[in-house]
Amino acid sequence: MANHFSQLARKSKAQSPIEKVSKEQTGTPPLEIYKLGDAVLRETAKRISKVDNSIRILAKEMLQSMYAAKGIGLAAPQIGINKELLVIDVNFEDSAADPLILINPEITDYGTTLNSYEEGCLSIPGVYLNVVRTSTIKLRFRDEMGRPRKMKADGLLARCIQHEMDHLNGVLFVDRVTSKEDLNK
Ligand code: ZN
Repeated sequence: MANHFSQLARKSKAQSPIEKVSKEQTGTPPLEIYKLGDAVLRETAKRISKVDNSIRILAKEMLQSMYAAKGIGLAAPQIGINKELLVIDVNFEDSAADPLILINPEITDYGTTLNSYEEGCLSIPGVYLNVVRTSTIKLRFRDEMGRPRKMKADGLLARCIQHEMDHLNGVLFVDRVTSKEDLNK
């Protein structure tokens, strides 16, 4: 099925999917990543009503910027765009694994098991603190072609999705740190 994408592209140029983004990004990332203190990080993101090429171009540039910054997830508010769009790749060391592009994501089920793990954020460089989150989630979203999708996630992926979805509500991981000891580090 290697020709799948090129066939799709021939069918409709207006609906061309995102071409593969190299995980080895060098040079200046296309998008600036906003940092703690920038107001856009505290706003509530808006749903995307139409998944068109402008959204796909944005997702592609977000992937390039995320890989350049050595991140595993990036939310649109972090690049100053107030929209419900996330890119995630917890398999950044595996060049063949496809990244996830989540549009209008909604968590439909939180598992009952909690775990604590150290998180960092491209908008808060150099800070790593333990955050408690549920180990498993179920979610629904639209993919980069606007198709409705459902998935289950656990482990680092479930954590990363929850962290990135917090950005859509103006929440940063440091807001969720409950241990005073951790905050005083
Ligand atoms: Zn973050």
